[in-house]
This record gives sequence, C-alpha cells and structure tokens, in this order.
Amino acid sequence: MPASPEPQPVRPSDLIAALERAVGSERCLSRLEQLLVYECDGLTLHSAKPAAVVLPRSRDEVCAVVAACRMHAVPFVPRGAGTGLSGGALANEGAVVIECSQMNRILDVDVDNRIAVVEPGVINADLSSAIAEFGLFYAPDPSSQLACTIGGNVAENSGGPHTLKYGTTTNHILALELVLPDASVVELGSPTGMSAGYDLVGAVVGSEGTLGVVTKITVRLSAIPVCVETLLASFPDVVSACRAVGSVIEAGLVPAALEIIDSRTIAAVEASVYAAGLPKEAGAVLIVELDGPAVALEPQIERIRAFCAQHGAVAIDVAEDEQQRQRFWLARKGAFGAMGRLAPDLYVHDAVVPRSRLPEVLERVCEIGDRYGLTLSNVFHAGDGNLHPNISFDRRDPDELERVLAAGNEILRCCVEAGGVITGEHGVGSEKQEYLGLVFSEADMDAMKRLRAAFDPDGVSNPGKIFPTTRFCAESNPKARGYDRVPLVE
Ligand SMILES: Cc1cc2nc3c(=O)[nH]c(=O)nc-3n(C[C@H](O)[C@H](O)[C@H](O)COP(=O)(O)OP(=O)(O)OC[C@H]3O[C@@H](n4cnc5c(N)ncnc54)[C@H](O)[C@@H]3O)c2cc1C
Repeated sequence: MPASPEPQPVRPSDLIAALERAVGSERCLSRLEQLLVYECDGLTLHSAKPAAVVLPRSRDEVCAVVAACRMHAVPFVPRGAGTGLSGGALANEGAVVIECSQMNRILDVDVDNRIAVVEPGVINADLSSAIAEFGLFYAPDPSSQLACTIGGNVAENSGGPHTLKYGTTTNHILALELVLPDASVVELGSPTGMSAGYDLVGAVVGSEGTLGVVTKITVRLSAIPVCVETLLASFPDVVSACRAVGSVIEAGLVPAALEIIDSRTIAAVEASVYAAGLPKEAGAVLIVELDGPAVALEPQIERIRAFCAQHGAVAIDVAEDEQQRQRFWLARKGAFGAMGRLAPDLYVHDAVVPRSRLPEVLERVCEIGDRYGLTLSNVFHAGDGNLHPNISFDRRDPDELERVLAAGNEILRCCVEAGGVITGEHGVGSEKQEYLGLVFSEADMDAMKRLRAAFDPDGVSNPGKIFPTTRFCAESNPKARGYDRVPLVE
C-alpha cells in the first residue's frame, strides 16, 4: 500500500472543493436540504448527517473521492439505493457518502459462460430484465429488487424468496473490483469462479462497506427454469403453516421458495395496490414455488399438497397462469410497502432460527408482540428459517417507541436462544452491533476486526458499523486512527 499522505487540516470548504474536483460540482451535494435525503436508509430510527454526498460515474472518480477524503482525514461510506434495513449506509462521524447509483452500466454479458460484469449501481431487477432474451436471470432476488443495487446486495450478502434453492448473493459473485481506503484498486476472485489463495471475494461479500468501495462485480447467471409452478396454501394460523414447511424440508424436497404471510399482512396487502386475491379470512398463507422440468414438478406438487393438508390447510390453489403467479409475488414482495397503511413507522426485524424451531419461536414472537401491546405481523422466508417480525408503530409516541425497542431486544434474544443468529440478510449495520456479542466471542470478533484492519487499517470505510462501538477501540477512538495529528479548523 502507498505511504499515507500527511493529513491536512479539516476545513469543510476545502473538503467540498476537493470533492468537487473529483466528480464535478453538479455531482457533489453539500447543501443542507440535499444532505437531508441521505441521513438514513430504510431503517429510519437511526440517522446521521453526512459532510457531503458525491455521485461518481467511474472507478477513477471513486479513487479520486477516496483520496480526497484521505487527504482531509474524513471517513467515507459507500451507498447504493439506500434501501438497507440496518442503518448500514449511515454517514457516521461526518462521513462523505459515496453514492454509486450513477455507476449503473452492465459492462459485459458472456452468454456462453453465463456471467455478467456490472457496475455496483445496477438495479438488481434490471439485470434480470436485460438478460432475459438470452434465457438467463440473476438469481438473488431481494423483495426490494426493483430499487436496490447489486453493490448494496454484495455488501449485505442479500437473500430473497428464492434463496432456499439458489443461495444468497455470495453464491453468485465470482470476482470483484474494490477501491481500498488508501485509494488503491484491487481485483479479487476470477470469472471462472476458481481462485488461488484466500477467498477474499467471500470476505468482501457481506462486509457492509467496511472494506472499501466495490466498483465492479462479476456475477454468475442462471438459466431461466423451463417450468415453474406456484402454490398458495391457506392455513388457520401461522404456526400450522410453519409445521407444513418443516414437513416439506424433512421430506428432502427443495422448492425454489417457501414463504409465509400472516393474517395482518394479508389484510394490509389486500387493501393496497399489491392486492392479489389472497384469502382475507386465512390465518396465514404459504407460497410454495417449484421449478425444473415439468415432469418432475407434478409429483412434488402432490406431495406438498398432502403435507399442507396434514397440517390443516383449508385451501390449496395452484397459480393458473403466469399472470396469477406474478400477482402472488407482487403481493409478497410489496408486503413491507403495504404495511405503510398500518402505522407511520415500520420496524422490519431480521433473524434466523433452525427451521425445526420455527413453530415454537413464532409463537414466542407473537406472545412478545402482544405482551408489549404492539401491532406485530410476520412475512418471511420460512424455508430458510429467516424471520421478519414487523412492528408497526408511531415513533412520535415515546412510550410506544420504548416498547418497540424492548420487544425487538427480546425477539432477537429468543431467536439466539433457539440456536439462531441475529441477522439473515439485512446485516448488522448500526442497528445490531451491540448484539454481535450474543453470537460471537471476543476472540471471534477480534479475528474479524483484524481482517477488517488488513483492508482498512485506519477504520475510515463506513466507520462505526458491525462491531460493538464500546469495545472496538480503533473505531471509537480517533487517536487510534492517526487523526490525532489532524488540527481541526472550524
Ligand atoms: C421493502 C424492502 C424489502 C427488502 N427485502 C429484502 C430481501 O428480501 N432480502 C434482503 O436481503 N434484503 C432486503 N431488503 C434490504 C435491502 O434492500 C438490501 O439490504 C439491499 O441489498 C440494499 O441495497 P442498496 O443498494 O439499497 O444498499 P444501501 O442501503 O445503499 O447500502 C447497504 C450497505 O451496502 C453498502 N454498500 C452499498 N454500495 C456499496 C459499494 N458499491 N461498495 C461497498 N459497499 C456498498 C453500504 O455502505 C451499506 O452498508 C429490503 C428492503 C426493503 C426496503
């Protein structure tokens, strides 16, 4: 790595001038009303004001921005579409936001080898649309896929309804280009998917922007399945639906998706533009999607029908055509948006439990919501054991807010006690850092911190995320970063 330049005094106007030189003044935002938009992501409970927001259009512009931040001893935070749900893209410590949305070109599609090279700002769903003509798609499909970027997906190791069969983002990333915090550029992995040495692509995927800025991504593409069947089974309650999921998995079947939507969510969806004719009287619905050769699907459908019936399903319908199938998915993927009807604020939790523990954990989660007098609904990736207990509330009511936070705390602890983890796909961000110690020992966290320090010894890329702030001294103590040498100028 090149030697650190001598830090210059931090003067906001100097910093802005340097950033303007890097990307041009029209793509450097520093007015208060412009910065307001970037104060939070999809988790609106946390906020922080950035020093500035830049919108680079190339890797070289990202390097120039990072160099300017380094020269002025100001941290930076990469950002995609800001749909994150863990406060990951927040500009802690007056950081500069590097918004990658204008780096949105699909650079190459190699149909023979089923790979594509994209810039980080490509919208997830746009990639699949662009390659459909070749019979290919990009499998990771977060419910936010109409808005979120592939750069953000890489940083969060995002999953989605089809994770059960296709895996999370990490299973689809072959190579990455990364601008390190010293403004140098590294290329990790290889388009073949095979690579000598450490799996650093694996380390960067899920690193939540703490190792640098991803500027190019080589992704694996998948063949669009020849046949897809989607079932909608209605249950009297969410626990019965969970039991049916358990039976499907125990039988060794691997559907493409197993998603549960509970009654509160159904009511919100059916009152919204995402209405898909879901049964309003049901306690829960289970969406089961199967894909593969038609001849293999029919026997699976019959077995799944039997499992659903055994656990009390009152109706089991198979989507009649592609239009109806798409309506089911629109309802599922629009569910968080539809919940905006219930209250001004929504806290989307994200935790994973072993699938066999789903029924009992769901019962406890609902009991916790009731005990705190909260409106709690569930819509989740049941096949992965990935729960999303959603609490609708009004943050202007301090008492309600306190109950929301206390209930969230209990829910996370209950999932960990059941053998689970504190996040399935939304990341730790600034939301769950104090919970990291529930699943990792000091030694585990120290190993992770040392990995981070190998990429970012000064802790300037997305500071104050993932690790508990109280214990990660290099993060919370400016002296540990060498900033003690920087004279502050008001
Ligand atoms: C309605 C809704 C539904 C959702 N459903 C799902 C779901 O099904 N599955 C799921 O996994 N998530 C889901 N999410 C969460 C969110 O959409 C994902 O985490 C997504 O990957 C974030 O992408 P983004 O472009 O918005 O990233 P941002 O929110 O902008 O950033 C997220 C993180 O990525 C980092 N980052 C962004 N770009 C880069 C880059 N170029 N280099 C390095 N780091 C970078 C940021 O620093 C931050 O830490 C949902 C969110 C919403 C609002």
